[in-house]
Amino acid sequence: MTETFETDSRQMLARLRGVMAEDAAGQQRLDRITELIAEEMRTEVCSIYLFRDEETLELCATEGLNRDAVHETRMRLGEGLVGRVARTGKVINTADAPGTRGFRYMPETGEEAYCAFLGVPIQRLGEMLGVLVVQSRDARVFSEDEIYAVEVVAMVIAEMAELGAFVGEGAAMSARHQQAVLFRGTCAQEGAAQGHVWLHEPRVVIANPIAEDPQRERERLHAAIDELRVGVDKMLDSAATGDTEQREVLQAYRMFANSKGWLRRMEEDIGRGLSAEAAVEKEQSATRTRMSQVTDTYLRDRLHDLDDLSNRLLRILTGQGRETGAEMPDDPILIARNIGPGELLDYDRRLKAIVLEEGAVGSHATIVARALAIPLIIHADRITTEALNGDHILVDADHGVVHLRPDDSVVTAFRDKMAMQAQAQERYASIRDKPAETRCGTRIALTMNAGLMADLPSLESSGAEAVGLFRTELQFLIRNHMPKRAELSELYARVIDAAKGKKVVFRTLDIGSDKVLPYMKAVDEPNPALGWRAVRVGLDKPGVMRMQLQALVRAAAGRPLSVMFPFVAQREEFSAARAEMDKALERERILGHVLPETVEVGAMLETPSLAFAPDSFYDEVDFISIGGNDLKQFFFAADRENELVRRRYDTLNVSFLMFIEQIVNRCADRGTPLSFCGEDAGRPIEAACLAAIGIRALSMRPASIGPVKSILRRTDLGELRSVIDTARASGQQSVRPAVMDYLRGKL
Ligand code: PEP
Ligand code: MG
Repeated sequence: MTETFETDSRQMLARLRGVMAEDAAGQQRLDRITELIAEEMRTEVCSIYLFRDEETLELCATEGLNRDAVHETRMRLGEGLVGRVARTGKVINTADAPGTRGFRYMPETGEEAYCAFLGVPIQRLGEMLGVLVVQSRDARVFSEDEIYAVEVVAMVIAEMAELGAFVGEGAAMSARHQQAVLFRGTCAQEGAAQGHVWLHEPRVVIANPIAEDPQRERERLHAAIDELRVGVDKMLDSAATGDTEQREVLQAYRMFANSKGWLRRMEEDIGRGLSAEAAVEKEQSATRTRMSQVTDTYLRDRLHDLDDLSNRLLRILTGQGRETGAEMPDDPILIARNIGPGELLDYDRRLKAIVLEEGAVGSHATIVARALAIPLIIHADRITTEALNGDHILVDADHGVVHLRPDDSVVTAFRDKMAMQAQAQERYASIRDKPAETRCGTRIALTMNAGLMADLPSLESSGAEAVGLFRTELQFLIRNHMPKRAELSELYARVIDAAKGKKVVFRTLDIGSDKVLPYMKAVDEPNPALGWRAVRVGLDKPGVMRMQLQALVRAAAGRPLSVMFPFVAQREEFSAARAEMDKALERERILGHVLPETVEVGAMLETPSLAFAPDSFYDEVDFISIGGNDLKQFFFAADRENELVRRRYDTLNVSFLMFIEQIVNRCADRGTPLSFCGEDAGRPIEAACLAAIGIRALSMRPASIGPVKSILRRTDLGELRSVIDTARASGQQSVRPAVMDYLRGKL
């Protein structure tokens, strides 16, 4: 039985290929397909329903039903048996369609005469395109083999749809990829941009889903699988031996690459007439459907692995790499499932915005995007399946919204918004060389955060007074090997040069927690944010810290040097770190290198404990910088990376402000210079409040300097302070509403 059926299904596909090759208009093609399926399946009816928009299916071709109903009969997703197949992605096979739950009678089609109904989804890589239906008069249930054959044909139809076989002149369907789509995601870096889609990994196009010679296709599949296995083994060999997580992922890859079940299913598909690549894609579609249904994260991850492997296999089989010959638009907006920090840097500053399906607020790619001030939206579900290279796209990262192929009205509204932002930018540019002096005459030092050489030009363009925080770990994160001392000292020297006499505060390596170096032995920690990170690693394993300090001292060579240690939780940690700095200076002196002109050594206050350190700490440290991002997460015990809680507590919460104020007072008592360098420093309302409670130096992203300076120049800190005090005294939880009221009246 199976053997005869294999032949049948192959014959059906061979005929389908004939239709594909014909020079016919889209509708004609679709009509021919329904005709031949009905004939081959020996059923009276075959119909194809395709999505007209996200919610509506349309009868696009039929053999057996009333032809006048074509393009007239529509149903909503989930409506009737066809709508149910489309919604669930599952086959419906019944001998009694009218008696089946959900059946919807559509008089215009004349379908009541048919009892048997088989509906299979037309989908490509888990993306639902429509439903293929066969119906017959006699009350029978379709066999497994028949279902399989219809599924294979549905997959080929999906491929043809993707290739645009039914659009254009005499179109059977409107081109789905021409419709406007809105995506919602999470903002990882604010900003707005309009441009054209640039796919990081363009989709693989399968030009030949049907093949004549199964033996040859099997051989092609085997050769590709062999190549895939070799590739995975190589990846395993070169993976850092200590990195258990990476090894586990790769071992799972290897397991899948060797999976007999996977190979067998693909071979069966080939036996039914599919080409090797179409067989891979058919399996991949099934994986994606499963992926959308499982909630268990471990299982989802594994299905993701399998999906990744299928992609690799498809690229091997089709020879399609990332280079498709397409030309990058002038205003590229990068669309990807995910991207590594190194890959992002390869794009340099050309990208106008980035939209990812996955990603995390604290991921390395996010850090790089932030450093480059590129608007970034993460968790934009399914955008890689919808977007095509060159599509017009608007990204509003402030609100986490993406408009793909937007309508004119959306474009106009968006342009208005951009124009308003441009106006604001002009305003900021006009005050660039003016001091951040408040209405009451207080000067606030506005400095910028940086992490890459590429950030340095912003020092001049933003009007920042200095680099208040240079995150040195970015240089470590974007490489796949530990940088050498000479490389680092050369880089730091270039940073100091580029600052042209303005101060640069270098923060020593802040790794651990979410920032894991691919080439360092990973430690499995139950709670990484509270774990072995930053200065703790530096003190326990001082090799890297010593190397870095030496590089910094050498880079300064006769110029002032400013260094701070991250995540200091108690005085002794600072003293020990400072002693390392002294030793580095001494070593360099002995070696005969030119020492820095001056050296100041500070600590980042990122844990509440340090606020309560003894006075001797405040005396010993040359300056303190509040790392508000970490300090806030530990103050409220709310993980800064966890979407469920990270926005729960307001920075302008009375308790937090009171806590910051205590630090301000202690520093004032001991004469310790203080600055604030978390993200909140760059938010105008928060920045004004921090100034009102006594912070006199704020370090932020360069793009924030203008907005913050603008608000400060229009604020009277004394007045704002009394608004804060009144709100506090009246028992408010956050001073934000009162502050907003006040500022609205003033600005
Ligand atoms: C902070 O914690 O506020 C900070 C500036 O450091 P990072 O964001 O790099 O942890
Ligand atoms: Mg920090």
